[in-house]
Amino acid sequence: MAETAAMTPENTMAEPPSAVGPLNDILNAMTDAVWPVVLENIPRDLQWPTLSVTVCLATIIWLVRGGHGAKGADGRERAAGLLQFLLPKDIYSHVSARVDIGLWVLERMLRPIWAVGLLATVGPAVESAVMGGLGGVLGDIQLLQVNYGWMLLYSLVTLLCYDFVFYGIHYTMHKVPALWVIHKVHHSAEVLTPLTRSREHFIAGPIWATGAALSYGVAGGIFGFFFGAGMTQATLFNVGFFALLFGFNGSFRHYHVQFHYPRWLSEWLQSPAMHHIHHSYLPQHWDTNMAAITSIWDRMFGTLYIPEKDEYTPWGIGPETQDQYRSFWQNTVGPFRDWSSMIRSRNAKVGAAE
Ligand SMILES: [Zn+2]
Ligand SMILES: [Zn+2]
Repeated sequence: MAETAAMTPENTMAEPPSAVGPLNDILNAMTDAVWPVVLENIPRDLQWPTLSVTVCLATIIWLVRGGHGAKGADGRERAAGLLQFLLPKDIYSHVSARVDIGLWVLERMLRPIWAVGLLATVGPAVESAVMGGLGGVLGDIQLLQVNYGWMLLYSLVTLLCYDFVFYGIHYTMHKVPALWVIHKVHHSAEVLTPLTRSREHFIAGPIWATGAALSYGVAGGIFGFFFGAGMTQATLFNVGFFALLFGFNGSFRHYHVQFHYPRWLSEWLQSPAMHHIHHSYLPQHWDTNMAAITSIWDRMFGTLYIPEKDEYTPWGIGPETQDQYRSFWQNTVGPFRDWSSMIRSRNAKVGAAE
């Protein structure tokens, strides 16, 4: 901290190799005091504050729309009394909701390994590489002083970086058949519950965590180069900010109540209702709304779909193959089974051509 205070433009001439970026600085200062902060801020979709906000907003939607706005297990909008609106029996007694629990428990057990392991290795490594690269291009620079304006910009750049990398990974998972079989586990959910957010095959965990670490590393590297360790506070602030945003966004977009934004806002930010579309198996909805937070990347790459109010969204992977991805076991072995049949059919094709 004393270092930060001493960093005035007059007395600090930075040497890029010795300047420390926010992620490396956190790693260096990884004491008993820092670890709990980092661990505590790993996004948790089932925190009580998050759930309370979800329930409050859903109640407001129920009041404003006179009992309308929630969808049933069939993906159709229907009016309901408050309790059935918030906690519909057909959704929470569905086999898909039960499978969510199993996959969630498995993901919970493995997540700390990916999240902490990759954030502590890939993140700082990328950050150092970016800082080194910038130092190579721009040479020695005078460190700038951190203020709230820069911290806000850092948050925004981190958010856009994260969202872009998320979009890229998500798009690739949808378009490359060998990767789709992994992500299919998320889409095999036939009903949406806040737990569906963590419904992923365990192989997907490290892929998403690498993406997150990469994006934080790039943003940390850019800002670390210009601000040095002064950005560390902003990084911790960012982690908290993201936990809040993802906690809410992640839970509500996997909730069966439609939370729409006005159309103009949906062109910039993904409303939770837009993720209902992402989970629909109708051909017009397939492969749309793939970003996590903003609509910028979907708009840029032509995958944005802003739904009408009460648009019908049957969830899942479609009647043809849903039977293969219904139980916990089917979802866990699914990718391996699909890969082996992909290899078999490729071998058969090669064999037939010879
Ligand atoms: Zn998807
Ligand atoms: Zn989803």
